[in-house]
Amino acid sequence: MSLSQGRPYLAIPGPSTMPDRVLAAMHRPAPNIYEGDIELLAARVADGLRRVALSTSHVAIYIANGHGAWEASLANIFSRGDKALALITGRFGDIWAQSAAAMGVEVERLEFGIKSSVDPDRVEAALRADAGHEIKAVLLTHVDTASSLRNDIAAVRAAIDAAGHPALLMVDAIASLGCDEFRMDDWGVDVMVAASQKGLMVPPGLGFVWFSDKANEVSKKADLVSPYWNWQPRAFPEMVYQYFGGTSPTHHLFGLDESLKMILEEEGLPHIWARHGTLARTVWAAFEAWGQDGDIALNVANPAQRAHSVTAARIGGGGAQRLRHWLETEAGVTLGIGLGMADPGTPEANDFLRVAHMGHVNAHMTLGALATMEAGMQALDIAHGGGALAAAAAEVAKG
Ligand SMILES: *Cc1c(COP(=O)(O)O)cnc(C)c1O
Repeated sequence: MSLSQGRPYLAIPGPSTMPDRVLAAMHRPAPNIYEGDIELLAARVADGLRRVALSTSHVAIYIANGHGAWEASLANIFSRGDKALALITGRFGDIWAQSAAAMGVEVERLEFGIKSSVDPDRVEAALRADAGHEIKAVLLTHVDTASSLRNDIAAVRAAIDAAGHPALLMVDAIASLGCDEFRMDDWGVDVMVAASQKGLMVPPGLGFVWFSDKANEVSKKADLVSPYWNWQPRAFPEMVYQYFGGTSPTHHLFGLDESLKMILEEEGLPHIWARHGTLARTVWAAFEAWGQDGDIALNVANPAQRAHSVTAARIGGGGAQRLRHWLETEAGVTLGIGLGMADPGTPEANDFLRVAHMGHVNAHMTLGALATMEAGMQALDIAHGGGALAAAAAEVAKG
């Protein structure tokens, strides 16, 4: 019997779970987009975005998803034929590098596989080898949402500095901002991109680019930029329409204003980071127990290299796909598909899934998803070790 009636739980890594308060804040008539409160709202949201990145940098807001923010960041930094060094730990780093190449940037790729984080020593060596300082920027994904690997941003900054290289550090924090600790200024990040629908808990539709003064200077010579994507008017507007290159994304702004209030004024970033850490360890504990007696494993072996917002895992024999299907149709829980873990269309591609613990999620949601997964394993005869739910509960109890 299907038990999927009731409130569904979309536990995929974006769109994340949105607070009802954010949705309610959007449920109102559109404001005047030319003057009045909209000016205050736009300025307040931009200020909140700086605070959430722990940065005094500039911020440009785009009506776009993460792919749009990627292109915006590239267009403002590069000219055709410039060089970039892309550090790749999964599907998302790969696509950002592909976008750069398609835009006419010459991309040198450093691949680290999908099982371990960026090795800063290899980054330093690659930059030392670039004696002519042709590489204009290093592209780095903080949390690769496909592999669920997390990279050490400060260590990569240190590697760039150790090589004495002037390259800018550009970071994709789409899957980590508002979930995992991220310190743009302390970590020496020059350009950072994020989007509304992950840790910021707002519907998909806004992309953001933060940039330092140094990046701003570099951008003045970039020839890839076109008027809509130019970050200058958006970050330094004289009239409110310039923030958005046209009509304001009015309702997304109402939602984002509410979520930034929840993040910055109410829960606070340190608590948000700690909550995601605990929920991540809860998921890891369950998988480790299941894996004791079944063909089940986390993708990332080293806990220090694991994301706190999403967990990628393998359940062999097509178990991952069967389990995802059962959870959605029988129990109202949707898990993420595996991305970039095996060639699409091969039997192995059915062995991977992702559990999101990103955004407005709490203990009962994560424990509920894990308990429901265990029910699905029983229903589908997927072999699994015992004690997973007790181990998960113990992580929550520890806090
Ligand atoms: C989700 C995500 C993206 C892509 O964002 P879209 O909104 O789907 O375009 C890029 N990078 C990372 C790390 C992501 O998690």
